[in-house]
Amino acid sequence: MSRISYVNGHYVPHCNASVHIEDRGYQFSDGVYEVIAVHKGNLIDMGGHMLRLTRSLEELEIEWPASLKAIDIIIHEVIRRNRIKDGIIYIQITRGVAPRDHVFPDHHNSAFVVTAKRFPSFDFNSTNKGINIITTPETRWQRRDIKSVSLLANCLAKEKARRAGCYEAWFVEDDGMITEGTTSNSWIVTAKGELVTREASNNILNGITRLSIMKVAKENNIKFSERAFSLEEAKSAKEAFISSTTSFVRPVLKIDNKRVGDGKVGHLSAKLLSYYSNHMKAQIT
Ligand code: PMP
Repeated sequence: MSRISYVNGHYVPHCNASVHIEDRGYQFSDGVYEVIAVHKGNLIDMGGHMLRLTRSLEELEIEWPASLKAIDIIIHEVIRRNRIKDGIIYIQITRGVAPRDHVFPDHHNSAFVVTAKRFPSFDFNSTNKGINIITTPETRWQRRDIKSVSLLANCLAKEKARRAGCYEAWFVEDDGMITEGTTSNSWIVTAKGELVTREASNNILNGITRLSIMKVAKENNIKFSERAFSLEEAKSAKEAFISSTTSFVRPVLKIDNKRVGDGKVGHLSAKLLSYYSNHMKAQIT
């Protein structure tokens, strides 16, 4: 079965899916995106993803390419045509095609692409295995709250992690504070047992998984703090983990080759993964 993608009004074989060379997404990374998990045929936290997409578009003054209702229909049609039970949906909206010029075009001509990919079904044990990460200087722009397709600094850092045999890289600012990972949010359980993740601001992408973890933590009376934490604090933490749509909750065993806590999967990380897995299960219809 061939993959089908949606490009500007058409469902096309993935191998033929293309956009114009003067699409502003291609020339200026003038666009935004969302990645939504599909779990047993259900879109997870769709409401949160659409809210964040709305915000990203508004911040950049990019028009919706279609009504929310039409977008919802297209997303479900891409899932149906690709027979996705478990996987992801990728949505990209750019300012569209216009003669190359830094200033915005007069007309609104947003371009809209939806692709889908299959993933193995969520499995608690394989997710709970633990990963190693490196740290790298924060080199990104100051609007990391916008889910922009401008991801070059993230790509460079993720490649650095891969070459170091690691799964993720955490960005560290000049003052020693961690912002987030290249494709995930960062969490620690401090030596004193405080669960911490950086507060939402222009400095990080406010992850939908991050928000869901905060929701399930509250429901289960687990206290957490939203504040900046330093690399030093992370290295002396009891536990650390990352969160994202595609990685869920993944325990961090080593940071820059130094063991976190006893170097085993943390108790609280495993508990939060289990609560998060229930949160996904509750959305299965
Ligand atoms: N931060 C960055 C930089 C990311 O790319 C992602 C994943 N898109 C996240 C955080 C986590 O966001 P979410 O939980 O919505 O996947």
